Amino acid sequence: MKKLIAGNWKMNGSLAANEALLREIAAGLSGQPACAIAVCVPAPYLAQVHALIMATPALSAIDLGAQDVSSQASGAFTAEVSASMLKEFACRYVIVGHSERRQFHGESDALVAEKAKAALAAGVTPIVCVGETLAEREAGQTEQVVKRQLAAVIHTNGHCISEIVVAYEPVWAIGTGKTATPEEAQAVHAVLRTQLKAATDHADRVKILYGGSMNAANAASLLGQTDIDGGLIGGASLKAPDFLKIIAAVP
Ligand code: PGA
Repeated sequence: MKKLIAGNWKMNGSLAANEALLREIAAGLSGQPACAIAVCVPAPYLAQVHALIMATPALSAIDLGAQDVSSQASGAFTAEVSASMLKEFACRYVIVGHSERRQFHGESDALVAEKAKAALAAGVTPIVCVGETLAEREAGQTEQVVKRQLAAVIHTNGHCISEIVVAYEPVWAIGTGKTATPEEAQAVHAVLRTQLKAATDHADRVKILYGGSMNAANAASLLGQTDIDGGLIGGASLKAPDFLKIIAAVP
């Protein structure tokens, strides 16, 4: 399976900064990369980034993604963005259930599952984030938490489950500089793979990304693990040299 390196820009960027970042990435991408690449950008910049990708041959390997989607198709849902809107702006991916959405916007497992369903219905691949907090890890609840989060998505999406991407992002590792060790991450990825296998015959084609302080220095050892099929990269995706080094680290 081709690995996927997806940047999550979060609420960062500007027209000028986005263009500079993408031009620097374009200059550093040599030939056909060994992995799939995506950038998940703030919604107002989807059109800009799509236009830049289309106009720059060296960026043609990069897919576009968004960071959130409504569970609803259309209607009186002020400020929400629907999956069909994302599709119109050429999004291949959308992140759903990022821990920052769960934590700061009260998103429940059920809502995240509905968002994944809405994305799939519009032909956009949801990158479903799961992960435990530090307190949950210390209480020995890691497995239980990630299985509960993924179970909601499996339950709601049935046979479509083989079409999703999963991202294991331990909350304590996000933006903190603390990364799960390759062995810690692999152990959780194996749990998620087993859970997917019970739900679909095609679990081997579901990419399970690791996210949480992945950087140029630790990417190779994380990406070398059996069940780590790529990375969801926050901070390091905003610096072209770091993002390029992570791409180059894909085995
Ligand atoms: P980080 O963020 O790489 O800055 O830790 C990852 C994420 O939140 O997706």
